[in-house]
Amino acid sequence: MAVFSSLADKLQETFKKLKNKGKLTEADVAEAMREVRVALLEADVNFKVVKDFVGKVRERAVGQEVLESLTPGQHVVKIVHEELTSLMGSSQSKIVISPKPPTVIMLVGLQGAGKTTSGGKLANYLKKQGRQPLMVAGDIYRPAAIKQLQVLGEQLQIPVFSLGTDVSPVEIARQAMEKASAQGNDMVIIDTAGRLHINEELMDELKNIKATVHPHEILLVVDSMTGQDAVNVAESFNQELGIDGLILTKLDGDTRGGAALSAKAVTGKPIKFVGMGEKLDALEPFYPERMASRILG
Ligand code: GDP
Repeated sequence: MAVFSSLADKLQETFKKLKNKGKLTEADVAEAMREVRVALLEADVNFKVVKDFVGKVRERAVGQEVLESLTPGQHVVKIVHEELTSLMGSSQSKIVISPKPPTVIMLVGLQGAGKTTSGGKLANYLKKQGRQPLMVAGDIYRPAAIKQLQVLGEQLQIPVFSLGTDVSPVEIARQAMEKASAQGNDMVIIDTAGRLHINEELMDELKNIKATVHPHEILLVVDSMTGQDAVNVAESFNQELGIDGLILTKLDGDTRGGAALSAKAVTGKPIKFVGMGEKLDALEPFYPERMASRILG
């Protein structure tokens, strides 16, 4: 998998040099940290996040314990691994399951981020865990979005609730809850309208749906290819609507990694899932530690 291949290559190169050195001086560490800083900035990681990260690693890496150890280079890599893991949220953030079904998950995001596809993938993931999801077609502005969800539902053998394009999304969401209770669906996944940009109308609609169905999880779907823009979008949605976590899509592509590395630090919200392809099983829970390992090789 080509996760952040450019970033991974650069960091691995830097640490190879460190490991080959044997004994390290503070100047060696400083030089390595400069390279790490450049590599992270080139990967489109938020400037302040990079600064904090490098500062933390440097502080730990120049300690006597590290520099005087037998394998200081490995020590430094271990510190970077730990700090990268912590940067991405430490441990896996699972979705909240309501003790009283149904658990309601609302998916939000800009057009093209992969929201509808991710809804299908998430429903598929939950179905495989023995749950009975209901997908809800809440994007009434693009008839194609409803059709797309219905096609996904047929492929996955998962029911889709739609009232077409003439009923308000709030009313659709409300009726979907009744339907889920009547049918015994323990998970409700609401697809909402995506726009090209964040605007007041979109936010008002999302706030109204939120106030009506009280979702247990509001997950924002963002495209990792858009780097720091994805993080800025996340910050706006979080401030306006309040989100519980992110689904980061298209991590299988040629993405530089900035979104994955900055999102938690900037927004305070964890990445819960990552999209790893167009297929309906290409959704994985996000494990910060494994991601750090992939980056550091
Ligand atoms: P929406 O407008 O946010 O609902 O976006 P869609 O779900 O329609 O997805 C937009 C495009 O991105 C589609 O062509 C999807 O197949 C593609 N896509 C979504 N998630 C992923 C992913 O994780 N990897 C890749 N390679 N493509 C994805």
